[in-house]
Amino acid sequence: MRPFDYQRPDDRDAAHAAARDGATFIAGGTNLVDLMKLEIMAPDRLVDVSRLGLDGIGDADGGLRIGATVTNSDLAADPRVRRTYPVLSRALLAGASGQLRNKATTAGNFLQRTRCPYFYDTDAACNKRAPGTGCAALGGEMRNHAILGGSQHCVALHPSDMAVAMRALDAEVEVEAADGTSRALALDDLYRLPGDTPHIETSLAPGDLITSVRLPVPLGERQVYRKVRDRASYAFALVSVAAVVRMEGGRIAEAALAFGGLGTRPWRDAEVDALLAGEAPGEALFDKAGEVLLRDAEPPEGTEFKLPLARRVLKAVLTEATR
Ligand code: SF4
Repeated sequence: MRPFDYQRPDDRDAAHAAARDGATFIAGGTNLVDLMKLEIMAPDRLVDVSRLGLDGIGDADGGLRIGATVTNSDLAADPRVRRTYPVLSRALLAGASGQLRNKATTAGNFLQRTRCPYFYDTDAACNKRAPGTGCAALGGEMRNHAILGGSQHCVALHPSDMAVAMRALDAEVEVEAADGTSRALALDDLYRLPGDTPHIETSLAPGDLITSVRLPVPLGERQVYRKVRDRASYAFALVSVAAVVRMEGGRIAEAALAFGGLGTRPWRDAEVDALLAGEAPGEALFDKAGEVLLRDAEPPEGTEFKLPLARRVLKAVLTEATR
């Protein structure tokens, strides 16, 4: 591990000043510290944002504003989240381990890096870690890789469970730039597809600080999160589905579905949501939703099993959410 400076300011102005000098933000450090030990990331200067007062959860226009440094454990246990956004609580509890959830923060969860094993192997070619070196995963051992949104340069999955539920809930990330100006980003605008620059994962500029996440009133009370993985706990998703559904007169009035384990970013497909809206639930409809979801899937060799798996998980989740 290389030497680095560490600073823990008490106010945002000091954090922004450090960011303008090129510092990297850290909070729980559950991913960044590992990456530093492996010298995959080697910041000269860390600014700990855990004392900036970003650890509250409060009401916001009928929805909820969640501070960037709220831990995953506190967020999952919050009574307002459990009551109104159970899909988020369940997704959080499906991620990592209890110890990690006690440290990991909301913003850190959004910004965690992929768990592609070649990204962590500094002897392997990896365009995400070392741009222009190639992709050892293509033609290598493939299982936890993406079948949607990949490119010939990278097919790494986004690993977060929380972000999948946030995507189904239409969350917006609130960001402060190093000059103090603020903006809000839908998750669709936060996460980039890999294209030919897989090392650039988000639309955040250097020095941007995520301060909070805003959840609108959910579109429906029926919420399900289901995650299929290789073992019962402490494993990343092979396929996961978050569903938020509103039923009316026995029909699906509105649906918002998001997917993990399939895409290079937390995946949402407006055509799937549109297909379900106004329809009576049933097996044929759910099969059609799976077809639409996977119409552009390009499973690299070794990940083909995700096609039938995704269809089955989607069908099970929709059956549960609409009965
Ligand atoms: Fe690197 Fe992406 Fe290829 Fe994995 S899939 S080795 S992260 S370029």
